[in-house]
Amino acid sequence: MFSTTIAGSLPKPGWLAETHKLWPRWMSEGEALKEAKRDATLLWIKMQEDAGLDIVTDGEQSRQHFVHGFLEQVDGIDFAHKVEMGIRADRYKALVPQVVGPLRLKGRVHAEEARLARAHTKKKLKFTMPGPMTIVDTVADRHYGDRVKLAFAFAELLNEEALALQADGVDIIQFDEPAFNVYMKDAAGWGVEALERAARGLTCRKAVHICYGYGIEANNEWKKTLGEEWRQYEQVFPALAASSIDQVSLECYHSHVPPDLMALLKGKDVMVGVIDVASEVVETPEEVAETIGRALQFVARERLFPCTNCGMAPMDREIAVRKLEALAQGAALARQKYG
Ligand code: ZN
Repeated sequence: MFSTTIAGSLPKPGWLAETHKLWPRWMSEGEALKEAKRDATLLWIKMQEDAGLDIVTDGEQSRQHFVHGFLEQVDGIDFAHKVEMGIRADRYKALVPQVVGPLRLKGRVHAEEARLARAHTKKKLKFTMPGPMTIVDTVADRHYGDRVKLAFAFAELLNEEALALQADGVDIIQFDEPAFNVYMKDAAGWGVEALERAARGLTCRKAVHICYGYGIEANNEWKKTLGEEWRQYEQVFPALAASSIDQVSLECYHSHVPPDLMALLKGKDVMVGVIDVASEVVETPEEVAETIGRALQFVARERLFPCTNCGMAPMDREIAVRKLEALAQGAALARQKYG
């Protein structure tokens, strides 16, 4: 009961990349960089285990950014000529690569870090990849000319890698779809369809993470415009409840999401965000247990997975570690209280 996990990313150590940044520069290159990525992956597996988490991830230590890390292994994408584009309905500008031809995987994307992680932990292992709709929203298309076609092209590639990750021994494959909270109508239509295409044939647990973004300035400002009640999930959850996806990760603690929206996910595992990644204040175990208690009104106990609201990539490393500990301790407390 209350198996703990994180949304996915963790801060990169200063010897691997720039710290406190969403698109950090690597500190080395070639073989030295590969070695540093491996070391950071192992470090975070150990830290997650020591914190007491039940389901661990590679902390996305091998990718510069959660979307572009995947795109780097895709043929048909021009990384040499990035262009500035407004993303998430123009919420902020990002330098994005361009789609210039038919998409194809150059080879495996995450084999090395997935196998490394698998070899060094007996815990359940989760692996994250960007979802098709979010990828489409984070590249400049100069070839397909149609967001839906492009999304399904990416979904096929994601599926190829997901099946290979499953064969590597990954227990849960999670697709990150922050774009679902921006383009709700499309998300409930072709967004979920493309997601299911990406997850086709998987027999491991299939998850989706939907959030209000990393704790960066542009997102924090945007959240202020969303009003007293954030009801974005309401439009997408029914489509997910009817889909083949097993688990849904959502923001809860410190958000304005009405908790009763979780009831729309009946029959699904719900990863409830009990840790705020936009605040440097570390939650107490009591606060975490309390959030779990609130969610229990709408989610069956065996389906409730305490989680972080979003990734922790741009966060201070020490604070992230303390938040992982609070997550595990809070879940333990909740087991005593509600067990
Ligand atoms: Zn997120």
